[in-house]
Amino acid sequence: MHFRKQLVRTLVPVLILGGSLGPLPQSMASSEFNLPSLGDTSASIMSREQEYQLGRAWVSMLRGAVRTMDDPLLKDYVESHVYSLAETSQLTDRRLTFVIVESPQLNAFAAPGGVIGVNGGLFLNAQTEAEFASVMAHELAHLSQRHFARNLEQQQRMRIPVMTAMLASVILAAAGGGDAGFAALASTQAAAIQEQRRFSRQNEQEADRVGLLNLQQAGYDPRAMPDMFERLARISRFSQTPPEFLLTHPVNQSRIADSRNRAEQLAAEGRLDSIDYQMMRARVQLHHEQSPGLAAQRFRLLLDEHQGEHAAARYGLTLALIRAGQYEEAGRVLEPLLQARGNSVPVVMAAAELDASAGRMDQALARIESRLQVNPDNFPLLQAKADLLLRSGKHAQSAQVIDQLARQRADDPDIWYLAAEIRGLAGNILGVHLARAEYFMLTSDLDQAEEQLGLALDRAGNDYVQAARINTRMQDLSNHRALLKSF
Ligand SMILES: [Zn+2]
Repeated sequence: MHFRKQLVRTLVPVLILGGSLGPLPQSMASSEFNLPSLGDTSASIMSREQEYQLGRAWVSMLRGAVRTMDDPLLKDYVESHVYSLAETSQLTDRRLTFVIVESPQLNAFAAPGGVIGVNGGLFLNAQTEAEFASVMAHELAHLSQRHFARNLEQQQRMRIPVMTAMLASVILAAAGGGDAGFAALASTQAAAIQEQRRFSRQNEQEADRVGLLNLQQAGYDPRAMPDMFERLARISRFSQTPPEFLLTHPVNQSRIADSRNRAEQLAAEGRLDSIDYQMMRARVQLHHEQSPGLAAQRFRLLLDEHQGEHAAARYGLTLALIRAGQYEEAGRVLEPLLQARGNSVPVVMAAAELDASAGRMDQALARIESRLQVNPDNFPLLQAKADLLLRSGKHAQSAQVIDQLARQRADDPDIWYLAAEIRGLAGNILGVHLARAEYFMLTSDLDQAEEQLGLALDRAGNDYVQAARINTRMQDLSNHRALLKSF
């Protein structure tokens, strides 16, 4: 991963979702087979491996700069959902990494090297799984069509470091535009974003078109895409401060009409929603509600409107009641859901959360263990197990589970953060330093990462295998540092 500085400085932000766009030229309107060929000039400018490294460095800076959601169920949902969409996409390199930004503002983005970003606000706004999928399919299309690398030539004359501009705009979106510091940062980058907009028009059309086909091939009703665009248009009409990506890429009537026409031409049978998606929405709604009490009121109203037949409302109400400390009522509300959907991981975890909150730690663990028999690698279940063992004072057992998770999810900073805590309590000090080093590397705090690796090396003493491993990590760190400096 040797980047020339000048090259990195001329990179284009792929996109901050969106896509505006007038009607497609007739020549582009017929099928998926008339895309511009890939791999030609773009490949010679930037290799896939360079894109990959650049994207991972970029996402570490983003993680260091915004609050992310560390909810394992939500992360797992986004990851499995997007991976399964990717199977019917044109994406060949499917090494993806994800970041869920803690913000009620609607935003989604893709960055080179397989980075997919989602604001919690997307869950709040996309009413069905198919609408959510239509945005994700659009983002995957930016990656599969390599819009990043293909724009390089056009962007060569840009002076402003565009990756930095893209970072600023994502951070701004996360902050909701209300923070003066971020606003100032953003205005200095406005020129770069302006420049990006002119070139992104064609990419946005292509992402809509390729994304729509992917949506249909993944088994969704393609009409969810124009539905989502109409929703976006309404948001921007009624909002004082429209979401960031609507500012840069307004959804206009012709874009809506175009995707509506295309969707109607495709075989329109397909699924629209899932209970899993609605349960994840309930989690995000609960997260952003002022108090568990208010959330409970809202979910109860929804449940009553459906005569008790609304799984996600029941699920949300259960979680809200647990957080409000009303365990008995939570148990009563949860019971029908547990009867009907006792195999669902989120439902099992809600039951375990209730048990643990009410002090029934063994019962909580038993529920998780029993579900792990069926899904032994399920990451939310494993993390719940590590957490419950930790809270039961079984530090060594908890450390075993978190070590397994750290191997499984080596690029997940939340896991390393938890690993440092658990290993500390289990008395594994070398392990604490190593976990902290990984955490700091993944969140772009390289000085701290280096310090932790130094401490780990001291601890390793005469353990040459361990020392060699740490030295390799030191080398990785210095490569990473060189790459970040180039931004
Ligand atoms: Zn886009």
